[in-house]
Amino acid sequence: MIRVTNVHKKFKDLEVLRGVDLEVKDGEVISILGPSGSGKTTLLRCINFLEKADEGEMEIGDRKYSLKYATKKQKLEVQRKTAMVFQLNNLFANKTVLENVTIGLTVVQKMNKADARRVAVRYLEKVGLGDRLSSYPAQLSGGQQQRVGIARALALNPSVILFDEPTSALDPELVGEVLSVIRQVAEEHITMVIVTHEMAFARDISDKVVFMDGGVVVESGTPEDIFLNPQKERTVQFLQRFR
Ligand code: ATP
Repeated sequence: MIRVTNVHKKFKDLEVLRGVDLEVKDGEVISILGPSGSGKTTLLRCINFLEKADEGEMEIGDRKYSLKYATKKQKLEVQRKTAMVFQLNNLFANKTVLENVTIGLTVVQKMNKADARRVAVRYLEKVGLGDRLSSYPAQLSGGQQQRVGIARALALNPSVILFDEPTSALDPELVGEVLSVIRQVAEEHITMVIVTHEMAFARDISDKVVFMDGGVVVESGTPEDIFLNPQKERTVQFLQRFR
């Protein structure tokens, strides 16, 4: 279980998060939707300590953290429990596909090389890249690169995987292959939070959908609640754009 409460974040005078709460149960898939600039990415970055929140608490399992005052040790602990899949892949260009996945296992998790290789190969096969172990990122399509990013996150066996618009930087014809890998991961009941603009995808795979606007959660519920029976005018307006 991961629960964040009362997350506030400002960039200078711009109040980007204004008291966000979010709870994800074990095995749950949650999608966060919302217009551009509503604070979705910033929320994920605060959870992962890539940004320091101005206020907010977080629980992961039985551990509690302040999003503002966490120590370096606590931040590392959280970063080991949460894995992020970014919008644009951030693979190491000078490392092979295999090395991109093993590096977190050997360096962060102190796994020996043979075990790390075994784990990495298993997850690269899972995302359909078992035959590209020795390729370099530049030799792969954007969709394949994102799949390496997903394998890397899975291999770390985190408590939760945070996806930050994993398909928004891809050419349209590459979106499907990445969504289908995420869908396959979701079916294994791995806890996931996905920021996405892919409405049909969010509706299909999520246990819960959260709609954010203006730095707050406007409403949340099952996909049916949000897509078929939204209660708030702002949600209705937002979804109309995708009809
Ligand atoms: P999108 O769907 O376009 O990615 P979003 O909902 O993820 O949007 P954020 O990326 O969280 O929104 O950004 C929220 C606001 O915070 C935006 O106005 C953005 O310009 C601003 N912002 C984000 N990061 C920073 C930063 N490091 N410094 C200053 N402003 C920032």
